[in-house]
Amino acid sequence: MATLRFKALEELFSRMPLEIELPSKNVSDYFGENVFDLPKMERYLSKEAYKVVKRAINEGKSLTRLEADQVATGLKAWATGRGATHYTHWFHPLTDGTAEKHDGFIEIGDNGHAVEKFSGEVLVQSEPDASSFPSGGLRNTFEARGYTAWDVSSPVFIVGTTLCIPTIFVSWTGEALDYKAPLLKALSELDRAAVDVCQYFDKDVNKVMATLGCEQEYFLIDDALYYARPDIVLAERTLMGHQSSKDQQLSDHYFGSIPERVMAFMEDFECEAYRLGIPVKTRHNEVAPNQFECAPIFEEVNLAVDHNLLLMDIMRRVARKHKFRVLFHEKPFAGINGSGKHNNWSMATNTGVNLLSPGKNPKTNLQFLTFLINVIKAVNDSNDVLRASVMNESNSYRLGGHEAPPAIISVFLGTYLINMLENIARKVTDKKMTPAQKTELKLGIGKIPEILLDNTDRNRTSPFAFTGNRFEFRAVGSSANCSASMIILNAAVAYQLTQFKKDVDLIIKKGRTKDEAIFQVLKKYILESERVLFEGDNYSKEWHSEAKKRKLCNIASVPESISLYLTKQSREVLIGSGVFTDKELESRVEVEYEKFTKKVQIESRVLGDLAINHIVPIAIRYMTSLLDNVTGLREVFNDIEFERLAGARKEVIVTISDHISMIKKLVNEMVEERRKANVIEDTYKKALTYESKVKPYLDDIRTHIDKLELVVDNEMWPLPKYRELLFTR
Ligand code: ADP
Ligand code: MG
Repeated sequence: MATLRFKALEELFSRMPLEIELPSKNVSDYFGENVFDLPKMERYLSKEAYKVVKRAINEGKSLTRLEADQVATGLKAWATGRGATHYTHWFHPLTDGTAEKHDGFIEIGDNGHAVEKFSGEVLVQSEPDASSFPSGGLRNTFEARGYTAWDVSSPVFIVGTTLCIPTIFVSWTGEALDYKAPLLKALSELDRAAVDVCQYFDKDVNKVMATLGCEQEYFLIDDALYYARPDIVLAERTLMGHQSSKDQQLSDHYFGSIPERVMAFMEDFECEAYRLGIPVKTRHNEVAPNQFECAPIFEEVNLAVDHNLLLMDIMRRVARKHKFRVLFHEKPFAGINGSGKHNNWSMATNTGVNLLSPGKNPKTNLQFLTFLINVIKAVNDSNDVLRASVMNESNSYRLGGHEAPPAIISVFLGTYLINMLENIARKVTDKKMTPAQKTELKLGIGKIPEILLDNTDRNRTSPFAFTGNRFEFRAVGSSANCSASMIILNAAVAYQLTQFKKDVDLIIKKGRTKDEAIFQVLKKYILESERVLFEGDNYSKEWHSEAKKRKLCNIASVPESISLYLTKQSREVLIGSGVFTDKELESRVEVEYEKFTKKVQIESRVLGDLAINHIVPIAIRYMTSLLDNVTGLREVFNDIEFERLAGARKEVIVTISDHISMIKKLVNEMVEERRKANVIEDTYKKALTYESKVKPYLDDIRTHIDKLELVVDNEMWPLPKYRELLFTR
C-alpha cells in the first residue's frame, strides 16, 4: 500500500499554478475599497457625524451614544451596499491570533418581517463571553464577562460578508485582556512625552506618532505534504526530519526568481490586501528554500499592527485556495534559517518630520540626536524587558541561531554616528561652554548628512540596528503579534523622554541655556548607555563574553526571560507610565508561562505519538525484512559465505534495533517527566520544569528518528522528508 507520503507527492506533482483573475484596474483604483475610511465616511455620514468621528480619531476620544447611532446608520448603509450581512468586533486576545464572533444585521420587526439593523450601541461596545481566552487569573469563570470597545483610530473593514470593527478587549473590571488596549496607552504616552521634547526645537509640533513597517517572513509548503506531516499540522514545525543534502548552502534561493505557483499566490493575497487598504510593497524569496518575505509601506504603529495581523490571516486563507500552507512559525525546519518579523520603527511629527532622520541644519540635527540618544538610553535601561517582549517558545529556536539576532539586545549605529556620539561625550563639559566650543559642536552636528541612509553600514547580525532613518528591531519573531514588542519599546522610549525633559529643565533652572542643558544631558546618557552599543559581529563567541562583562542580559531560558517583565525597572516603566496596572502585568506574565508550558507539552505529545506509532512500526517492518533476508542467506549459503554476505545486513539490524530501543526508552522517560511536571501548581516553576526536564527529550528522541530515516527503506518511510518539504512546490 502506498504511504500517505507517496500519495501526497503524487498529488503534488499534478499541481499547476492556480489561474487567478486580477482586477483589470490599477491598484490605486481599488486600494482600500473594503475599508470605511475618511473619504467614505464623508460620503456616508452626515456632516455632523463626520466631524465627530474625525475629532474622535485625532484626539482619541470616544463617541456619545447619539453620535454613535449616527455613525452606525451610515456605516450600515455602506456595508450592506457592499454585501455585508454580519458584523463582528475584531480583537486581539493574548493568543497569537485575532478573535471574532459574528452577528447578523438581521432582526425581526413587529410585523414578522426581517429587517437589517445596526445601532450605535453595538458599534461601540459588545460583551463577548471571555471565559475561554487566556487571562492569567484576571478573571474567574463566574465573572467571565469581557467587553470589547471600538478603537476609532483603526478603520472598520469588510472581509467576505462580515463588517469587522477593530476593538480593545477588557474585563468587566476594566483590566486589559488583549494586546491593543496597552498598545494604545503606550502610543499615547509616547505622543505626550515626545511632543514635550519637540517643544525645545519646534513649537508647532503638537502630535508625534510612532511608525512601524514590519517585514513578514514565512515558509510555504504544499497542502498535501502538510497533511502528511502531523507534527506540522499540530505544532507548526517539524519535530523530526534529517537534514536535506542540499538546502541553503548555495544561497541560490535568496532573491531568486519567484516560482510560478508562489507568484500566483502572492499576487492573489496582495490583491486582497490592497482591497483592505494594506500597503504591501515588497516581495522576494528569502534565504532558506521555500522561504519568502512580504513587506508593507510603514504606517502608524496601531494601524500597522492591525494590518499585519489581518495580512497573516489573508495569507493563510488565500494559501489554502492555492493548495499551499503558509508557516509563520519561527523555526519550522531545524538546521536552516528561521523566520523573523523585523520591526522597522520610528517617530513622525504632525509637521511631517521623521524624528530619527537627520535634518538640514544644526537645530534639526540636534533634535535628531536627542531622539536617537534617548532611544539608545531606553534600550539600555529597558534591555531586560525588551528581551522579554520577544522571547517565547517558538522564537527561542530562532534567537541566537546563526542566522538570527542573538538573545543579547545591543544597538548598532554605524561608524559615522558612533564617532559623533564619542565627539559629544568628549567635547561637552559640565562647565559653561565658551562661544567657541559651542560653535565647534554645532558645526560638527550641522554636518550630519541629511540622508544617512546611504552612509550607514548594514549590520545584519544586530538585533536592534539603526538603518539611516529608523531602528530595525530584528529579534521579533515571525508568528508574533508585534504589539508585544511595540508596547514595550514605545513605553520605554516614552518613559525615557519624560526623564529627559525633567533632566534638561533642571539644568535650565540652574541658569544654563537650553542648548547647553540638552548637550549636558545627552553626554550623560551616552556615557550611561555605552555598554549597549555594539558594532561587531553579534554571532561571534567574543561578543558573548564581552556582553557578559558589560552586564547585558543573556538568558537562554524562556520562562526566566519572561520573568524579566517583573523587574524593578520594568515595573517602573510599564506601571509608572500607566501602560499596565500591577495586576495586568502579573497576569500577562502568567499567560506567557502557561503558553510556553502548553506548547512544549503539545510538541512532546505529538513527538511521542509519532515516534511510537509512525516511526517505530516502520523501522520494525524494515528490520523484519532484513531479518528474513538474513535467514534466507543462512539457508542457501555455507557458514563462511554466509558470514561474508550477511555481515553488513546484521550491522544495520543492530543499528535499527538500538535506535528503536532508545526511542522507546526516551519516550517513556519523557512521559514520566511530563507526569511529574503536570502536578506542579506554580506556573513559573512548571514552565521551568517543562523547559529543563521535558524539552531536552524533543532533541534526544529526534536524533534517533533522524538516524533511522537514513537507513530505513525510502519506500517505507512514512513522513515527507526535508528535501521534499523544501524543494517541491
Ligand atoms: P530591508 O532592506 O531591511 O529588508 P525592506 O524594504 O524589506 O528593507 O523593509 C523596510 C521596511 O521599513 C519597510 O516596511 C518600510 O516601509 C519601513 N520603513 C521605512 N521608513 C520607516 C520609518 N520612518 N518608520 C517605520 N518604518 C519605516
Ligand atoms: Mg526586507
